[in-house]
Amino acid sequence: MMQIKGLAGAAGCVAGHAAVFRPSELCLERRAVSDSQAEIDAMEAARARYNETLRRLAGEARAAQGEEGAGIFEAYQVIAEDDYLFDQVKELIRAESVCASWAIEQKRAETEAMFLGVDDPYLQARAADINNVCKEITGELQGVDTGDPFAGLRGEDLIVFAEDLTPADTVRMDRARLKGMVTEKGGVTSHTVILAKALGIPAIVGVGPILDQVVSGQEVLVDGRLGNVVVCPDEEAKAAFRIREEEDGRRRLLFDACKASPARTKDGISVRVNINSGDTESINTFDAGACDGIGLFRTEFLYMGQNGYPSEDFQFNAYRSMAEKNQGRELIIRTLDIGGDKQLDYMDLPQESNPFLGYRAIRLCLDREEVFLTQLRAILRASAFGEVKIMFPMIVNLEELLRAKELLAKAMEELDRRGEAYHKNIPVGIMVETPAAVLLSDVLARHVDFFSIGSNDLIQYTTASDRMNEKVQYLYDSCNLSVLRSIKLVCDNARAQGVDVGICGETASEPRLIPLWCAMGVNELSVAPALVGRTKYIINQISEADMAQEMEAILSQGSIPSAREQLDKILQELGL
Ligand code: PEP
Ligand code: MG
Repeated sequence: MMQIKGLAGAAGCVAGHAAVFRPSELCLERRAVSDSQAEIDAMEAARARYNETLRRLAGEARAAQGEEGAGIFEAYQVIAEDDYLFDQVKELIRAESVCASWAIEQKRAETEAMFLGVDDPYLQARAADINNVCKEITGELQGVDTGDPFAGLRGEDLIVFAEDLTPADTVRMDRARLKGMVTEKGGVTSHTVILAKALGIPAIVGVGPILDQVVSGQEVLVDGRLGNVVVCPDEEAKAAFRIREEEDGRRRLLFDACKASPARTKDGISVRVNINSGDTESINTFDAGACDGIGLFRTEFLYMGQNGYPSEDFQFNAYRSMAEKNQGRELIIRTLDIGGDKQLDYMDLPQESNPFLGYRAIRLCLDREEVFLTQLRAILRASAFGEVKIMFPMIVNLEELLRAKELLAKAMEELDRRGEAYHKNIPVGIMVETPAAVLLSDVLARHVDFFSIGSNDLIQYTTASDRMNEKVQYLYDSCNLSVLRSIKLVCDNARAQGVDVGICGETASEPRLIPLWCAMGVNELSVAPALVGRTKYIINQISEADMAQEMEAILSQGSIPSAREQLDKILQELGL
């Protein structure tokens, strides 16, 4: 028996069999070629074969799982067919008479560097998608199999063990057989964890080097809540696991039962539980009946995979279709949050030494008015088809907010001239995700209908610790009292002005913090789709009045471990 401890990524208990996954090695060395054109032809042939495979896989996935399954293959097709990237590769092959594998790798690495430090999960996924497509075309070129990691393995209950997993790896795994994930690398916000949460399976990450000690087919027990893995368990370990498994199964049933009903604390305070959305897959799988609405619709994906800015009509169609799918529930559309570290070639953005503090989000939109006005008109037009609200990211002063609202008025005038329908009193809000916005929240609240706290960024800016830098993850802490006090201040200032306040960062669904959010008077939490039930269940268990007293004690101290201990104790008392 071998016990492995890792980071608790996605909760859940599962017993199954190990599937050790080692991706095939590609040769990426620089090799001189005498016939550049022959090299380009070989690459184009590999690209065409790869595209054909993607088309076939998309068709098969659509037949088996509907649009959800097909989405990722189609997204890959868009990248594989993107001439912009591959024209650059061809230029490099010609200019330096080098092999295609090396040239692809150079352009892939450049693209990845552009996305480095991306603070947005689906944009990261986008960069990872480009990496995967490049890797797979190179594999095709070299005749290396990058296919199904489960090929040759038997069993319907596979727990994949990998150094790390890409979406491409996971998409090739037979999802019906994939029951859990264990990775050597990665943190609790890694792609593996995001995907596992979406699939509703447990994931344990950051376990360190173990692949040489595990053999495919071995019996495995995974407890995602505790971050424990047992390989070749003895009878005692199996018995203990069965108890945890039963508890877990009971919990799941309780959570699922809460999804479709409104969440209300024991003393009758309602909290809306919305979902975060903004990639093709989450849109295709969106189930309006299993949440109260969409609390954060990230629009960046519409700008990715394009050769130029998306048109007003293209955006309008996407927003409208989401508004219609949402069936009268709120849909908070965030205006473009790109720039700085999240660059797109056609935007021609400057290189920055400190991109998180640079030219991004509302700063870029206020500077490129036409880009912003196009998006505003598209959102406004969609507001005629549902409960659309509009939200500006990264606000740091009142002037930015007022200017954004001026441009919104200008977009309305343009639509009036065209005779287009839209909601004239569309609710306008901002993301509170900078310490500046926190400290100005009393002033800002007078000019908005709602706040949504972007805790992902707020934690990084408040604690001055990069949310993507593993070295400082120990400081990037949602329980830092400075963060909790900031959120409390925003809630107090919002309430004083009668402004609705939500949280849309990952902490919105952190179990130990949900009671605290209720005590602070948060009206809305926006979470990953798979976490709606659990979030609602916790809200239903607590009394806001009781929590308000506990909150005073928690916020008045300075020690993070003791605050966490107190919060965990409250959860335990609720049986969680
Ligand atoms: C946030 O900062 O908390 C947020 C939700 O926005 P993003 O993760 O897209 O920066
Ligand atoms: Mg943010």
